[in-house]
Amino acid sequence: MRYVIIGGSAAGISAIEAIRSIDRESPLDLFSDEATPLFSRVLLPYYIAEELSKPLLNFRSGDFFEQNRVTPHLGMRVRQISIDSKTVQTQNGDSQPFDKLLLATGGNPIVPPIPGIEKEGISTLKTMADAERIYNLKGRKAVVIGAGSVGVESCISLRRRGMEVTLLEQLGHVLPTVFDEEAASIIRKRIEDLGIKTITGEKALRFTGNGWVKSVITDNRKIECDMVVIAVGVKPAIELVQTAGIEIGSLGGIRVNGRMMTSVPDIYAAGDVTETYDITRDSNWINAIWPCAVEQGRIAGLNMAGREALYEGSFRRNSIGNFIGVPAISMGLTQAETCSSCEAGETFQEIKRRTRDTYMKLILKNGRLVGAILVGQIQKAGLFFVLIKKRIDVSDYLSVLMSRDLNFMNLLPLIRRNAGRFTETEYKEIMDTML
Ligand SMILES: Cc1cc2nc3c(=O)[nH]c(=O)nc-3n(C[C@H](O)[C@H](O)[C@H](O)COP(=O)(O)OP(=O)(O)OC[C@H]3O[C@@H](n4cnc5c(N)ncnc54)[C@H](O)[C@@H]3O)c2cc1C
Repeated sequence: MRYVIIGGSAAGISAIEAIRSIDRESPLDLFSDEATPLFSRVLLPYYIAEELSKPLLNFRSGDFFEQNRVTPHLGMRVRQISIDSKTVQTQNGDSQPFDKLLLATGGNPIVPPIPGIEKEGISTLKTMADAERIYNLKGRKAVVIGAGSVGVESCISLRRRGMEVTLLEQLGHVLPTVFDEEAASIIRKRIEDLGIKTITGEKALRFTGNGWVKSVITDNRKIECDMVVIAVGVKPAIELVQTAGIEIGSLGGIRVNGRMMTSVPDIYAAGDVTETYDITRDSNWINAIWPCAVEQGRIAGLNMAGREALYEGSFRRNSIGNFIGVPAISMGLTQAETCSSCEAGETFQEIKRRTRDTYMKLILKNGRLVGAILVGQIQKAGLFFVLIKKRIDVSDYLSVLMSRDLNFMNLLPLIRRNAGRFTETEYKEIMDTML
């Protein structure tokens, strides 16, 4: 058996570990167009903030490839997949045969076609090379465009380095896809308290500067700057797949079955490049977060090595607390109407509780928890995660779940009723929440 993996990040590395848990001997080649191996993208903002040095970004030890008998091809882009000959072709013209192939190519940062976007001093933040570029940029003033998780983390990192930072978001509030307006207002206040000028509902129209960026022009103002970070999202990196004839789903990601296999036998896909089943939406979605990529890579790897394993589905969860200094977690749907597959007869319910510094909202679909937002107090996050994952009907327990002090005895009947559905770890997670 010859394994080839394209992409050496969360999904790719997790797949290697799963394969090697079954098959220690077969040749395994990893191709990554990034030269730096085994670093966690999640930690790049800390690198930019000068809070973590490069070695501390690694999520596996330096001898990982040796230990796992992997031949790494770093800084090497795969240009083409030939399905008939079962080979991949690299940028330098070499050909590598495979019996089982994994596409773990992740997402490409979206670069909006704003006039002047090609100017020096403007960068996305996805790769280590991007992070180094931003790290090495000199200047006093920065603009971050896009107030999603990466944008918010980037602007706080730059602020921690002492820069004057403006955060610009064209939608109505910060973190628009992961928090609702009310939670976002608390988070925005924290961002502003850090000294970051935050502008929402305003669009970047053009960049000025003679070669090097000097300002961002919006519908309302001119923001002077020495650098710009573009953080407006990612889209699946499907370039290889488009020419190979592997099926793409309606959301633009690679379509896979429950075993993470694509429409072509022996070719698997995992991570940000795939569309997979989302438990809260009851439909496919692209949940571009690290833990989902790891789990999908694991399932793909097991199946590639011959052990049947099914992907149960997942849902989005985002935590921003480390950066803003107030714990904030959101998971699943953020509001009732964001469900893309609402059908007749489905009823949604939103329950909220707000104090000056805390906020909690639960979103239910037909009595089942499908989303939760917690700001300020996040102790119940583990419990809500398990209840969403296990699709538990919580309609009789809303007051218990919303109460300030969750009492185990009050929740016991619900746990008892569903005891068979919790694994030991999940049960422990629930217990921990009550302590
Ligand atoms: C700055 C930042 C902060 C983040 N913070 C969080 C967080 O706090 N929590 C969280 O859950 N998620 C976070 N994420 C998202 C998380 O990093 C991704 O969900 C995760 O990395 C996806 O892993 P992946 O293996 O699918 O793909 P990726 O990590 O995107 O890796 C894919 C790799 O494949 C390579 N590749 C692509 N095409 C080719 C080719 N043709 N040939 C060779 N190599 C190729 C790419 O260059 C890349 O190295 C963050 C992302 C960024 C950028």
